Amino acid sequence: MSDMAAPAAGISGIIDPEVLDCTICFDPLQPPVFQCAVGHVICSPCQGKLINKENCNTCSLPGGYNRCYALEKILESLRIPCANAAYGCTVKTHYHEVEDHGKSCPHAPCFCPEPGCNFAGSTVALLAHLTGGHMWPSTELEYNVKLTLEVKAGVHVLHRRDRSPFFLVKFTPAPPPYGSAASVLCVDPDATATMEKGRKFRCQLGSSNVDMDWQQYSRFQVRSTTLSDGWPPTEDGGSLYVAPSTESITVSITKIMRDIWPLPVRTNIRSQQLEHFCKRKSSNPDAKTSSQPRMGESAKKQHISTM
Ligand SMILES: [Zn+2]
Ligand SMILES: [Zn+2]
Ligand SMILES: [Zn+2]
Ligand SMILES: [Zn+2]
Repeated sequence: MSDMAAPAAGISGIIDPEVLDCTICFDPLQPPVFQCAVGHVICSPCQGKLINKENCNTCSLPGGYNRCYALEKILESLRIPCANAAYGCTVKTHYHEVEDHGKSCPHAPCFCPEPGCNFAGSTVALLAHLTGGHMWPSTELEYNVKLTLEVKAGVHVLHRRDRSPFFLVKFTPAPPPYGSAASVLCVDPDATATMEKGRKFRCQLGSSNVDMDWQQYSRFQVRSTTLSDGWPPTEDGGSLYVAPSTESITVSITKIMRDIWPLPVRTNIRSQQLEHFCKRKSSNPDAKTSSQPRMGESAKKQHISTM
């Protein structure tokens, strides 16, 4: 990748990108490039693979392909500003590097998930917006260290000192006999690349009641998102169902090392104990009807379908 600045006296303009793409594979050209007698240009890999090197693949004119030094010089001098320049990226790349940089650009915007709010910006700017503008509560997070969070409808922000990426823990009301569902997302400008390479973080959510002698936890890989489509459905990520009277849950987040094959989601709910506890605590009569799904069954089904 190149971030060389264009010459000070450079020319800005608009060029049809098609003229800079190979006429055979349509990939962006990079030197060396080859042309036929009338200027159909092809990339070096395609030139190497041609069975008939005597005639142009596009116009069939004889004479084969020759190096096109003039276009190579243009490609070498061309610098394309990153599409995220408006969000603070100052990188300018060669034409053939645009796509790779775009996939990993640290300035790709992330979006505010609050309905009706159009804010977009870097993770640093979005974090400041959520905690300062929308006044969402936030806690500093260390990987592999268990945090205790109050169960309270709404979103809690977990951020690291370096601020990127950050995590959102959302508490939403859940059907009886549960009190609420807690789900976790990672807000990451690199979310597209993460989908290709595998998830980056694993989370464990837990809740317990010492008096009632029960505990439950849910372990899952955290979904990364730029929130460009708003808040994803809860079923798209791991979650934990929390008993109505539980006041706090524990959260810990672990970075997944790239060479470790992603693990499937695991849940360990001591279901009979929790069901017993929820029924005793719940004041909702529906919770006791026989049509109510059993706690363990519905919770497990949810969790398995989330991956
Ligand atoms: Zn090609
Ligand atoms: Zn030709
Ligand atoms: Zn960029
Ligand atoms: Zn907002």
